[in-house]
Amino acid sequence: MPKQIRKKRIKVPEQDPEARIHNFNEVALGYTFELAIEEASRCLQCPQNFAPCIKGCPVDVNIPGFIRKILERDIKGALEIIQETNSLPGITGRVCPQEEQCEMNCVMGKLGDKINIGKLERFVADYARKQGIMSEIKMAPKNGKKVAIVGSGPAGLTAAADLVKMGYEVTIYEALHEPGGVLVYGIPEFRLPKEIVRYEVKYLQMLGVKFETNAVIGKTKTLYELLDEYDAVFLGTGAGTPKFLNLPGVNLKGIYSANEFLTRINLMKAFKFPEYDTPIKKGKRLAVIGAGNVAMDAARSALRVGYEEVYIVYRRTREFMTAREEEIAHAEEEGVKFMFLVSPTGFIGDENGHVRVLKLIMNELGEPDESGRRRPRPIPGTEFGLEVDAVVFAIGQKPNKVLYQEVPELKVTKWGTLVVDDKYRTTMKGVFAGGDAVRGEATVVLAMGDGKKAAKAIDEYIKTGEWPAKIKPQNF
Ligand code: FAD
Ligand code: SF4
Ligand code: SF4
Repeated sequence: MPKQIRKKRIKVPEQDPEARIHNFNEVALGYTFELAIEEASRCLQCPQNFAPCIKGCPVDVNIPGFIRKILERDIKGALEIIQETNSLPGITGRVCPQEEQCEMNCVMGKLGDKINIGKLERFVADYARKQGIMSEIKMAPKNGKKVAIVGSGPAGLTAAADLVKMGYEVTIYEALHEPGGVLVYGIPEFRLPKEIVRYEVKYLQMLGVKFETNAVIGKTKTLYELLDEYDAVFLGTGAGTPKFLNLPGVNLKGIYSANEFLTRINLMKAFKFPEYDTPIKKGKRLAVIGAGNVAMDAARSALRVGYEEVYIVYRRTREFMTAREEEIAHAEEEGVKFMFLVSPTGFIGDENGHVRVLKLIMNELGEPDESGRRRPRPIPGTEFGLEVDAVVFAIGQKPNKVLYQEVPELKVTKWGTLVVDDKYRTTMKGVFAGGDAVRGEATVVLAMGDGKKAAKAIDEYIKTGEWPAKIKPQNF
């Protein structure tokens, strides 16, 4: 008799919205062993060469392969298959936009629900971490060569993992006091518990990677000094400089960038003030300008630190929001209010210079712009004010130039991203780069993919000494 196909996805247990807006614990609780087996049993096991899910994964995880191992209850085997190409599965399983990547083309979508690949990947990583299961690590003998990595986000961590396994001595320089990049300072605890990032960092330390925190390259040490000391340098410095709109009143107190707001909460534990010494001023009403994942993170964090009313202010309509559907749904369930077709025009402050009113104007949608999304057009005479105690800008970020502003050899694009070729070589000999520093704001898994490819190219460069006379820029 043919196997009965189960059409519906096995639901992932979640914290109740009422309870979760009062804590920073993870929202999605993850599959138990039995639920993971049930979900894994829905996979049709498409042959590896043709599996459309693999084609959607930027790091080519052998998805049917690891799902088969779950079915065989061989979690070590599943972990080993995933880690052949993805060194941070506990992170990607949680934060990858799977609906646009691996899950997008899953053939089960034609018969029912697509396989929940992300949550299965997360299950393998979590189960292995909790049970102390590790994949066999193949370490090449030490080769006496040294590589410096600047930035400890997913790009830097992945490049470091691959290089240390190839036999290199690797040191990561990180400007902040804790490694992890956006994984620790940006993405909130309720989506990505920091213990998972710390576990990955410890794993790298165990492999021999050294971490120098509070080290701002460009200030503490220059890139030239690193090049004297190391055989190659990888720049994974991300895109951490926030964008603001130059509107009247933008410098009032209580107006934050999402970066600062989330860093205060995530890294400096502002929600535990005075136990931790960085406060975040709490008030009644907060508005977030923007509609991407960062905006959802800021809005949902604001609810958790005690704001009673949190608004997302967006110039287009819901269908054009760039945040993941799952994040929008979670924000809605938690009570975040959405204001569509409105744009900010300025801010009014009180006698202490603190923001009190966010001035807005209503929009209508016109013709599509370069991004294909319909352009918002303000409707004259529709200005109004929203009383607020705080405003968070979440309208995008650009690369931080501290490191390369004093290095004329490094060419940057008009968006401030570093120019690299298809081997992640910058315009300066011996210096490679990847992740948001070369792409602008992108995703964790793309940054990891860059780190991986750059590690391979660094190995090739150190072994051959070859460097092209001219760099052919790669388009992202
Ligand atoms: P980063 O993670 O930005 O790390 C760069 C590191 O370099 C930082 O730690 C920085 O302090 C350090 N650094 C910078 N300059 C220097 C210097 N001069 N010296 C020393 N160190 C330096 N992506 C997803 O896939 N899924 C999500 O759900 C998601 N949510 C996000 C939520 C937020 C709030 C934000 C901000 C981003 C989110 N992203 C998400 C995007 C994703 O986090 C980034 O694309 C990814 O982290 C980029 O990795 P990276 O290694 O290039 O840089
Ligand atoms: Fe899917 Fe991301 Fe895992 Fe690839 S790394 S299989 S895209 S969750
Ligand atoms: Fe399984 Fe879907 Fe991948 Fe096929 S496409 S192997 S059903 S996850």
